[in-house]
Amino acid sequence: MKRNSIIVLGFFALVAAVGLVIFQTRTRGQQQKEAIGYEDTPMLPGGKWHVHDGRRPQPPIVTPGTFSTQQTPGEPPSDAIVLFDSKDLSKWQSAKGGPAEWKVEDGYFEVVPGTGDIETREKFGPIQLHLEWSEPTPPHGSSQGRGNSGVFLQGQYEIQVLDNYHNITYPDGQAGAVYGQHPPLVNACRPPGEWQTYDIAFTPAIFQGGEVTMPAYVTVFQNGVLVQNHTEIWGSTGHRIFPHYKPEIGSTGPLLLQDHHNPVRYRDIWIREIKPVP
Ligand code: MG
Repeated sequence: MKRNSIIVLGFFALVAAVGLVIFQTRTRGQQQKEAIGYEDTPMLPGGKWHVHDGRRPQPPIVTPGTFSTQQTPGEPPSDAIVLFDSKDLSKWQSAKGGPAEWKVEDGYFEVVPGTGDIETREKFGPIQLHLEWSEPTPPHGSSQGRGNSGVFLQGQYEIQVLDNYHNITYPDGQAGAVYGQHPPLVNACRPPGEWQTYDIAFTPAIFQGGEVTMPAYVTVFQNGVLVQNHTEIWGSTGHRIFPHYKPEIGSTGPLLLQDHHNPVRYRDIWIREIKPVP
């Protein structure tokens, strides 16, 4: 055999060997992909996916944040909408219209009594909310008069903010309550002056034709302690009223913070919009 023929044959042999390796690798990859789940298992409700179906979309990746200390606010998760970055109230406005008039200090903001409620410029539907607040120290007043503010979900449903550390009030009006409806499961208040946390999951009510077809639900952790567990909200909250839903509010609303004439402080506020699984 001529030398040139040997070189050509050698070249084709090399190409064939490389091709075989690539083919085997790809096949192995496909087998691994197929091995993620099952398609011979029972069908789940909805008729789209089997039990352990590997073809279901992978959940989006979120980088978790960090927890706060008394001295330092934590970092939000990577997909959070930060509503207060320790610097300004640009994401907020007065609920009466115009700029938010509360006082921004060293990494927090504080209710300026008499200036009115503030609300986010953006509106939200289903959310996870993280928020921290601190009660005035030394404490002043008693019952509903001590460190009163509030977190209004969708601008309608108040999760009470109050200093209930050695301060008794009516149970459906204390910190962690759905105001006027559901007392918190426990009193998990820290002393005034310490930073406290709310971690809240909220689902708005669904309205059709002016009627409520699904009520709103809320779950609340206060300082890491469960105080509302998938609680059904009975309607917009208020003082000395029986709650009623307002179908005209629709499916979204702002996050609103209450001016109840007490200089309560807030920091480290972020929201994650809860999106349905594809
Ligand atoms: Mg209040």
